Amino acid sequence: MDDFSRFQAMVDQSERIVFFGGAGMSTESGIPDFRSEDGLYRQEYDYPPETVISATFFHRHPEVFFRFYRERMLCLTAQPNVGHLKLAELEEKGKLQAVVTQNIDGLHQFAGNKNVLELHGSVHRNHCLQCGKFFSAQFILESDGIPLCPCGGTIKPDVVLYEESLDSQTITRSVDAISTADLLIVGGTSLAVYPAAGLIDYYRGSRLVLINRTPTSADARADLILRGNIGELLGRLVVL
Ligand code: NAD
Repeated sequence: MDDFSRFQAMVDQSERIVFFGGAGMSTESGIPDFRSEDGLYRQEYDYPPETVISATFFHRHPEVFFRFYRERMLCLTAQPNVGHLKLAELEEKGKLQAVVTQNIDGLHQFAGNKNVLELHGSVHRNHCLQCGKFFSAQFILESDGIPLCPCGGTIKPDVVLYEESLDSQTITRSVDAISTADLLIVGGTSLAVYPAAGLIDYYRGSRLVLINRTPTSADARADLILRGNIGELLGRLVVL
């Protein structure tokens, strides 16, 4: 049996699938990741991306933060790819329990997934730091300089910046989902960002499938590794 057929068999035999993913899930939708050859970390800026998207930098240099954020992180025209759509189909058929994602692009929800645990927040939620008023991602995209609320407060995207902690309820729900999964599919992630990457340690089953273009730190304990494009590979699955 080839590797893809083994993957298909695991999906067929599983009823509590959890998908844990990262930026690689959306590269086939045209959103750059951080660590690939053409990822944001390989591009030249005055400051490295991990500096710009830190809480300290946001508060000290908000105008530079928002320039980077609008140019590189707000991809509002991106559409879900076939992989996102397949995960939505798996949930619809009652086989997938949760999508746990490090992504902030909202594409899993656009594809139709309901139980999406966003570890790093979402570009689609933005709040005034002073009065709490909600603003859309489109509003942030169309604003100039530092986006301001009518009350005068700065509007901050609800994305988890470096130095900020993850939402504890989202972590608890992710741990619950992963620890009770019968198949954990991990894909499109370098597993380099903690604490998110550590959550896959809660999986205790015997079907850990890794789908990534490049090796990761979890390769040694994977039951199956598929090298290739995750959207394409997930898209090939037949959901019974
Ligand atoms: P990463 O950039 O560190 O790693 C991406 C991994 O995916 C790499 O190992 C790469 O080889 C692999 N990959 C890229 N495209 C792929 C494809 N089509 N098929 C299979 N594998 C593919 O991303 P990360 O691990 O998610 O960590 C980066 C952080 O950046 C995350 O915390 C995330 O919040 C944030 N981020 C999010 C987005 C987004 O929301 N779309 C985009 C960039 C960065």
